[in-house]
Amino acid sequence: MKISRHKLGRDHAAHETITKTSGRFTQGLPDTIVIHYTAGSTLESALSTFKDPDVRASAHVVVDKDGSLTQLVPFDHIAWHAGQSAFRDRTGLNRFSIGIELVNAGRLEKNGSAWSSWFGRNYPQEQVVQAVHRNEKEPTYWERFTPEQIDAVFNLCSLLKKAYNIKHILGHEEISPGRKIDPGPAFPLDKLRDRLLHADRSDQDEQRIRKPARGMVRASALNIRTGPSAKTMTIAHPLSKNTELDILDQQDGWLQVKVQITGWVSGRFVEKLPG
Ligand SMILES: [Zn+2]
Repeated sequence: MKISRHKLGRDHAAHETITKTSGRFTQGLPDTIVIHYTAGSTLESALSTFKDPDVRASAHVVVDKDGSLTQLVPFDHIAWHAGQSAFRDRTGLNRFSIGIELVNAGRLEKNGSAWSSWFGRNYPQEQVVQAVHRNEKEPTYWERFTPEQIDAVFNLCSLLKKAYNIKHILGHEEISPGRKIDPGPAFPLDKLRDRLLHADRSDQDEQRIRKPARGMVRASALNIRTGPSAKTMTIAHPLSKNTELDILDQQDGWLQVKVQITGWVSGRFVEKLPG
């Protein structure tokens, strides 16, 4: 994938020209990417909204469920995706950022044995993620992003980082909390940031194990399981309060952790393994 004249190569993206922009970015910008979902069901419905001259919204790229990309606004032009927003000392993030929209319904409501979107479409269980939104406390339901979409966003962000000196990758929910909930907890935003921004590594080293984040158990007892679901088996006694952890990965509101305990045990009961 390549960018030339601020557009994705035609082999890798479809292009639609829309004029809903505020002109060019100032020197040194954009340096931020903002991730969104469309809150809709198809690419076609997203494109018709973005192309509608009466809707004051636009974005640089829309990512369909099969991972295909459609570019609407060149990367050197300001699109209208963030609205009222703030990050650190900045307000109005459109002037600083590239907006990427993923085709996704967003939050779902459980109705009997099905999950439905705000526009009334039903989703089977395998397309549903139950997770806690970063701005909320209780788990809710979300449409699962496809692996192709997530791959496409990772690749696109990696390309944009090289082309535009991207320093921040943010969710709309982080710059407009209270007003916006996209992309929501089904999108691996922290992993994306971690891979592209926090790791000073070449692409070949992507698979290398990083220094893990640390955490501490806050509940009085916490089950530790084989997988990221309450349906999976526990693998040890529950972890007790204040147990320190290394956080290795995260998925759907679950953390893969490694427990670090240092202490003394009787040598008679430990088999030494060959190093
Ligand atoms: Zn948004």
